[in-house]
Amino acid sequence: MRKIVKIALFILLLGLPVTTYASTNANNLKELRQELAAYKAKKAAADSSKSKTQGEINSSKNAISNAQNEIETNKIKIEQAKKDIQALNIEIETTQKKINELMKTYEISSKDNAYMEYIFNAKSISDLIVRMHASQKIAEYNDGLVTSYEEKISENEKLQVDLANREVELNKKIDNLESAIDSLGNKLSSFIEEALDAQSDIDSTQKLINYYVNLGCGETENFNECVKVKGDTGFIKPLNKGTITSHFGYRTHPITGQKYKFHSGTDIGGNAEGTNVYAAANGMVGKIINRASCGGNQVYIYHTINGVKYTTGYMHLLSINVKVGDTVTNQSVIGTVGGGKKTSSYERCSTGPHLHFMIGKGWYGSTYVSYNTWVTNLLNPINVIKFPAKGIFFYSRY
Ligand SMILES: [Zn+2]
Repeated sequence: MRKIVKIALFILLLGLPVTTYASTNANNLKELRQELAAYKAKKAAADSSKSKTQGEINSSKNAISNAQNEIETNKIKIEQAKKDIQALNIEIETTQKKINELMKTYEISSKDNAYMEYIFNAKSISDLIVRMHASQKIAEYNDGLVTSYEEKISENEKLQVDLANREVELNKKIDNLESAIDSLGNKLSSFIEEALDAQSDIDSTQKLINYYVNLGCGETENFNECVKVKGDTGFIKPLNKGTITSHFGYRTHPITGQKYKFHSGTDIGGNAEGTNVYAAANGMVGKIINRASCGGNQVYIYHTINGVKYTTGYMHLLSINVKVGDTVTNQSVIGTVGGGKKTSSYERCSTGPHLHFMIGKGWYGSTYVSYNTWVTNLLNPINVIKFPAKGIFFYSRY
């Protein structure tokens, strides 16, 4: 669908026949607006997924940074534990020295079996008791200190191991979070792309809507029908030269002499029968009448000027060059001037070669069909197209 819309817009830019627009899924403005609403909903969903995923990425990043901080803190703790162990080892050494000094004081040998030797060298029973007691105290003191240091060392060693294990665990967690961020990143890019696609669909659809609105298409009017009429921005004169011989409105009828007879258009004379008559704007031939006793051969062309529907009418034609449904531009020759001798066999309402030119609102024969409605919708052509005053010739269609 997106591609089709883009192709359609491309063709629009090239100015190629707009019938290619029918390739959109929508048949009318109402459906096109529904498509637009669907694209907008799609965009909103993608945007919301986008921010949700971004939030997940942010919290994963936070978790990684917390884990990294913990690893850093643990490294400091490990260093501290190592230092503590070193200090404790020094303390053990110091204690051992103190013990040795104490032993010397009590004349205890520095050998392994020092206490025993010391005890058995007692000179009397009472000396033995004193020596046993002293040895026991020193041994207890020694053991107590060393044990407490060793406990502290092993605590610190355990802490080092625990922290190292925790680091492994945290690194694993970081790895997992990083791979989660990777896949969230992929998700995020796909949501971003989805949102961008939806936005481009929204833009294209909006452009199409504007295009059809400017063509004057109704909400439920089929595009195929609507686009047959190529839009335009204004009208130009239907003849290359000429002069106004009779104005639109109430007048004295040149044949019956009847006062205040309504005249439905502007009469343009000054051209021989057979002179080219052009469409006054881009449009589509909507209605043709052949050899009417009053009006002769007639062509009616449907226009959409700046989004508003109009019909132009051309009467007393000698020949008609177009058929109903033909698309015309403001350069198309739709017929030739008649109303003189060459059409006098059937035409009763023309006194000489001239074009009876009409402009009315709406599409006469499509928007409405009654002649009375056409008459009430008629505009004075000189209020729509700039003509010189009655009797003065113009030599350009612009
Ligand atoms: Zn007329």
